[in-house]
Amino acid sequence: MTRPRELPWTMLCCLPLLGLTFQAALAAPLPSERLETWKREIEQRGEQLIVARIETDRETNQVRIPPDTPRRALLAQLLASPGLAGQFVQTHAMTLNQQATEGRVHFVLLNMARAGEFKDAEEPLLAHEFGHAWLDALGFRSPDAAGEAQPCLAIQAGDIVQHILIRGEVARRGFAFRDYWIRNLDQALDALKKEDAPDGAGASGCDSLARIALWTDVRLALSADSWSRYGEFDQAFRSRFPLLAETVDELVTVLKAVDVTALERFRRALAYVLRRLAAAPGMEERPAAPEAPDIPLKTKACLMPSGWLC
Ligand SMILES: [Zn+2]
Repeated sequence: MTRPRELPWTMLCCLPLLGLTFQAALAAPLPSERLETWKREIEQRGEQLIVARIETDRETNQVRIPPDTPRRALLAQLLASPGLAGQFVQTHAMTLNQQATEGRVHFVLLNMARAGEFKDAEEPLLAHEFGHAWLDALGFRSPDAAGEAQPCLAIQAGDIVQHILIRGEVARRGFAFRDYWIRNLDQALDALKKEDAPDGAGASGCDSLARIALWTDVRLALSADSWSRYGEFDQAFRSRFPLLAETVDELVTVLKAVDVTALERFRRALAYVLRRLAAAPGMEERPAAPEAPDIPLKTKACLMPSGWLC
């Protein structure tokens, strides 16, 4: 998932509006041959990858699924989860993975209400989302967000661990994701520095988890060498969200020490991140303190298919 800032809550309503416009958009080829290749690789595994451009209407509180979207009824059913749709409207894009009778289906959804923010970066954005679908196809799955009482918990935990693998694979395939990401980070940092709230007081648990996931991503992926504002970002988050720093510091330490390219370690790392996020400040129910991470340190072992990420 690629998240900028917040939008009001939007309800699902599958109205067949703007059908011609949507059909034209849907029929458009993917922005690059590299994306087509990746899509074919996923579909050669007997799975279906569907890219849908979704309009959200802030005035009428509707999410509109293009009428000719394959498996539209299934997608509507998934988006009927208020928590899930609520997460989607805050993002540029989201990938939903679902088991259907004939096989697994991956919906890559673009939030067209924010198209202006990514119209020149659709290729890296889609590549990032294809990475989520690809990991799911390989069994490196995120938790089932649709089945969670708090979908944001499943989404953010899955993102934190999957993004480690996606960064490597997207770069290996030659996609230039970093410029688009840093542009978003620059904007988020500028917006944060303009806000008045001293410490994120009043933020929901989901807001806190999104900040933890973003902050952890930045700490794991970037440095002062690769992003000139890295130190400024870290300091701004530390002073604005001091209660989250302990969680992020621990996640970063643990995840740096784990080689999640091995499936078993990926799953254990994900279970650990889920527990850690569930206990993060702002979450409604605080379970017992998370168990100490019991994850083997990095090894060269790799269980993934031939050469991928190894
Ligand atoms: Zn993502």
